[in-house]
Amino acid sequence: MTIYALSTPPGRGAIAIIRLSGSHTLKTVEKLTGKPVPEPRQATLRVLSDPKVGDPIDSGLVLFFQAPHSYTSEDMAELHIHGGVAIVDRILEVLSGLEDLRPAEPGEFTRLAVLNGRMDLTQAEAVADMIDAETMAQQKQAFRQMQGALGELYEGWRKKLASSLAHLEADIEFADEDLPGGIGQAVLGEVTLLNDEISAHIRDDRGRTLRHGVEVAIIGAPNVGKSSLLNYLVGREAAIVSARAGTTRDIVEVSLTLGGVPVVLADTAGIREAGDEIEREGVRRALKRASEADIRLHVTAFDTMVHADEIHSGEAHAEEANFQESDIYVANKQDLGATQCPPNIPDGGFYEVSAETGAGMSDLIEALNARIKENFGLAERPALTRTRHRIALQAACVALERGLERAGSDMELELVAEDLRLAMREIGRITGAVDVESLLDIVFRDFCIGK
Ligand code: GDP
Repeated sequence: MTIYALSTPPGRGAIAIIRLSGSHTLKTVEKLTGKPVPEPRQATLRVLSDPKVGDPIDSGLVLFFQAPHSYTSEDMAELHIHGGVAIVDRILEVLSGLEDLRPAEPGEFTRLAVLNGRMDLTQAEAVADMIDAETMAQQKQAFRQMQGALGELYEGWRKKLASSLAHLEADIEFADEDLPGGIGQAVLGEVTLLNDEISAHIRDDRGRTLRHGVEVAIIGAPNVGKSSLLNYLVGREAAIVSARAGTTRDIVEVSLTLGGVPVVLADTAGIREAGDEIEREGVRRALKRASEADIRLHVTAFDTMVHADEIHSGEAHAEEANFQESDIYVANKQDLGATQCPPNIPDGGFYEVSAETGAGMSDLIEALNARIKENFGLAERPALTRTRHRIALQAACVALERGLERAGSDMELELVAEDLRLAMREIGRITGAVDVESLLDIVFRDFCIGK
């Protein structure tokens, strides 16, 4: 069987690329062009026709890749045609009428690449991440993963475990003979180190935030200027600004990029006591949201309009939402008067601004940028990006910890070895070194057609 698909986005465009992969590629190209297939990897201008009626459809570049030197390791071709809807439809229709050809499933080219050993599963996932990347940091991370950095890290761990296991098994085998003792102990030392390394990798949240965005919640009493601040940061009217207290009843979310990192900025409902049921629900959500955010902007304001009680209760809530190390305290409405920095705020965590005049805003944005970069930007080490990886690594750690515990309590070494084998298997599932077939559907679920 040979598969084909439009690999460029559907619709009007300068060029459209149709890809083919499989053993009938060569014959198909010859049928379409009426000429011998071009030299491998040499772009050649050809007229493409409907072989049944000989009717020319378009002229374009034809590229042929000979197996195994292609993305999928099979014979492949690319037809670079003009990106007109009628042209693309026509060529696809012609292909559908040829024997031994069928349309590709989503992600099928990459799936073939995995099955034929061209790349591991983490690299295939990175191909999807590359296509989905919207910020520079996401794209950099995806590229590194696509080049194999994450796969190598995991394969490295699996090999270390394999070597520990081999030593342990030797130990078990020669237990009766009078071999110098302590080999088992050395192995357990290595396993402990590895377990620590994997645990640290699981705790490192950078990969996840890079994929999903850093959450920044704006919290504070009603009317302090939270919506105004959000609008200023986003540069457009994303939240409705109003002089009446408690207008932002629900949560307004906007996405933007700061420090090359995707950020979800959430303006939470004004935090205050009392109010009706809807308002209380807003406050409840605001608090929950705030407690889950990566960074909180605690906003207060110099404002004679806001009732003193509300400011007071707002601050009580702000305390409830817990001022954390990565948080920033923002005193808004600087144009109306100066605010004292509260005593419990760490150095560099206090900014006086005016969302109205823009005073102090560039300093605040700079601080926010730096904080995001520092805490959520690209690390030198490849980062954990997917829940699928996290689950496997957690299972590996559980097995390793159980093994270490058994070893510590003088249990049978065979059981310890079994735990190491289990952990190896879990790590192998991430790259596809183990169980690749059963994982393909999970990995390729979100792929687009033609990739
Ligand atoms: P929120 O309830 O905290 O979201 O507050 P809003 O953003 O709706 O702002 C409440 C009122 O304060 C509006 O009338 C804004 O125009 C006004 N406001 C916001 N920021 C400033 C500021 O920096 N200076 C002054 N003078 N007024 C501001």
